Amino acid sequence: SMLMKNADAAMYRAKEKNPNAYEWSTPSMSADALERHAIEQELRKAGARNEFVLHYQPQVNLGSGEVVGIEALLRWDHPTRGMVSPAEFIPLAEETGLIVGIGEWVLRTACRQNKEWQLAGYQPVRMAVNLSVSQFMQDNIVEIVSGILEETGLEPRYLELEITESVAMRNADKVSVKLEKLKNLGLQISIDDFGTGYSSLSYLQQFPINRLKIDRSFVNKVTQSEDDAVIASSIIAMAQSLKLEVIAEGVETAEQFDFLRRRACTEMQGYFFSRPLPAGEIVELLRCTEEA
Ligand code: C2E
Ligand code: CA
Ligand code: CA
Ligand code: CA
Repeated sequence: SMLMKNADAAMYRAKEKNPNAYEWSTPSMSADALERHAIEQELRKAGARNEFVLHYQPQVNLGSGEVVGIEALLRWDHPTRGMVSPAEFIPLAEETGLIVGIGEWVLRTACRQNKEWQLAGYQPVRMAVNLSVSQFMQDNIVEIVSGILEETGLEPRYLELEITESVAMRNADKVSVKLEKLKNLGLQISIDDFGTGYSSLSYLQQFPINRLKIDRSFVNKVTQSEDDAVIASSIIAMAQSLKLEVIAEGVETAEQFDFLRRRACTEMQGYFFSRPLPAGEIVELLRCTEEA
């Protein structure tokens, strides 16, 4: 990973001095720990320094071609490291508990932005926000979400919470109680990265969810791998039988797009239609209410 480059360099320097050193000898471990510590300190200050930004990726209805939703994706605009991907810092943010505060900022910013677009005369769309595991496990997550909806004035049906299949599978009883409470606020719920966790049909049925998001790893290869094509097709069929909507993520090619449309997948998201964009650019893809 980009953030670990310095630690790697330190390890190579240590090995140069002592060629017999084990790959992960003490000097490299401490360099690694130091690097982590430095990033953690920066991560702690990033919020107050306004270094977090959201990018937005459209979700498109496969039948009409219209943008019906938007996923908010977090970026860290770091003064020296540049735009840092969430894959680089979410795990650390999760371990340190910093994700809770960051996640709340994401939720508030995304809801406020969606409300602003509606007030500016754009056709209303869903705003999907990723909930991390520790955020979801918070005792007061329902109060936090309802507070933010109230504060921003966003109608709950225009908010969608994405939880990953692995989070949903942790403790089915607890998770379904919590999802029920969130759903009762009037918002929508989707299961992210679906297909990676081998959830059974009966497992899914106890959750009050609106849609499944087929994981990018299957969508990626539907036109190359027979296995992935079968998995994607069965997820779509399963969703239909459970009366759930299904969205394919990571759609990059016209072939993948055609494959999904032929199988009556409801929606898609991916570079084929648009990359995640800053707020100012994505509005160009939204329709105005007057045109409707
Ligand atoms: P995710 O929720 O599965 O989000 C989809 C990821 O796939 C995004 O990466 C998106 O930019 C990328 N993507 C979308 N379409 C395509 C495509 O056609 N091809 C390829 N190759 N990639 C595509 P991103 O933005 O780097 O986010 C990575 C992960 O970080 C997310 O995966 C999510 O798990 C996490 N994340 C992002 N924002 C947040 C957040 O606000 N809170 C939490 N807890 N996690 C977040
Ligand atoms: Ca997601
Ligand atoms: Ca996903
Ligand atoms: Ca993913």
